[in-house]
Amino acid sequence: MTEDRFETRMSHAGRAGTRAYGFVNPGVHRGSTVLFPNVAARREAAKHRFDQVMTYGTQGGPTHYMLEDVVAEIEGGTRALIVGTGLAAVAVPLLAYLKAGDHCLMPDSVYGPARNLAEGLMKGWHIGTTFYDPTLDEAGIAALIQPNTKVVYTEAPGSHTFEMQDIPAIARAAHAAGAKVLMDNTWGLHHFQPFKHGVDVSIQALTKYLVGHSDALLGSVTVNNDDDWQAVRGAANAMGHFASPDDVWLGLRGVRTMPVRMKRQEQSGIEVATWLESQPQVARVLHPALPSHPGHAIWKRDFTGAASLFGVVLKPDYTDEQGVAFIDSLRLFGIGASWGGFESLAIPTTGFVTRTATPTELGGFTVRLHIGLEDPADLMADLAQGLAGLNGEAPAAFD
Ligand SMILES: *Cc1c(COP(=O)(O)O)cnc(C)c1O
Repeated sequence: MTEDRFETRMSHAGRAGTRAYGFVNPGVHRGSTVLFPNVAARREAAKHRFDQVMTYGTQGGPTHYMLEDVVAEIEGGTRALIVGTGLAAVAVPLLAYLKAGDHCLMPDSVYGPARNLAEGLMKGWHIGTTFYDPTLDEAGIAALIQPNTKVVYTEAPGSHTFEMQDIPAIARAAHAAGAKVLMDNTWGLHHFQPFKHGVDVSIQALTKYLVGHSDALLGSVTVNNDDDWQAVRGAANAMGHFASPDDVWLGLRGVRTMPVRMKRQEQSGIEVATWLESQPQVARVLHPALPSHPGHAIWKRDFTGAASLFGVVLKPDYTDEQGVAFIDSLRLFGIGASWGGFESLAIPTTGFVTRTATPTELGGFTVRLHIGLEDPADLMADLAQGLAGLNGEAPAAFD
């Protein structure tokens, strides 16, 4: 029997069969205390508390276990942990594998709050971090590894500047030195299978496309063997990480339509990005699925698709003020953080990203766009009137 295809698996994964009183969807199981018939049963359960055996609310319950199974399925790992936010999913494995005196490598393009964790709490605990050029090859990474390097952190592409990373090459260098490879795989989601490319621990901000409706925060940490499971589950447990079962339930609802939403958003994103590339006001578009992207060959080799999040660099003639006015003039793009929801968003990259290893020369005012489920023709019409405004023209009709 051949394995079911992705959309089929996302429709069926984690379902309760007829066990949820016959309903298609599971209930929301809320609770702190878990009761046992006697002390012996409680003692026995405690031995298996990391194995989807209920012992106390913080260990999760049936609603969590379903999403855990679905996320492990999406990423091709053995087990997944659900936590309250994507940022918690970043923090848990970092703190699971790093202790005082250890060293970590992080790409200069890393998600900003991950950088803050490294430069703040981790530094205070005498965990050193070296930020590296995200486009380094195997030898480049090997040259930065120190005897105490325990973690090589990756994220591809960077969620503001969109550099691709050669994950298999980075993983070879890390593993040769006995370091763990952690990856923020939020942009790739199911389009990048982390464990087939040398990643040890995969991080997802489920807040983005999996929840998909901008109405809940969730994160996941997926592993591919029991040692890593004990490490990350143990760290999360020690710190009291937890996700509300109501939010987990929204995640389970989101996952059923996630493949079809992502497919549509991927297509719309590429359509809008390609169109933007041909506009006279635009210097370049930062989208790994476009042949013009410097990391396109890596994306093509390792990914089966794309997210609908990318950057647009305006020609250097435009000032910061004009770039801001362009964003403000858009009617269909909300101005705000996050992505992966059903609605389009625009925020400035310029003035937002911090770099310490490789100062990014984007070459002009840069806007990050998230393409939602609107009709792309309407989005392009909106962007067209905004671009016309840059030249002081009246809004142009879109054809
Ligand atoms: C949003 C995001 C996170 C954090 O997710 P939250 O749920 O907002 O904490 C982590 N990594 C990337 C790449 C993100 O875009």
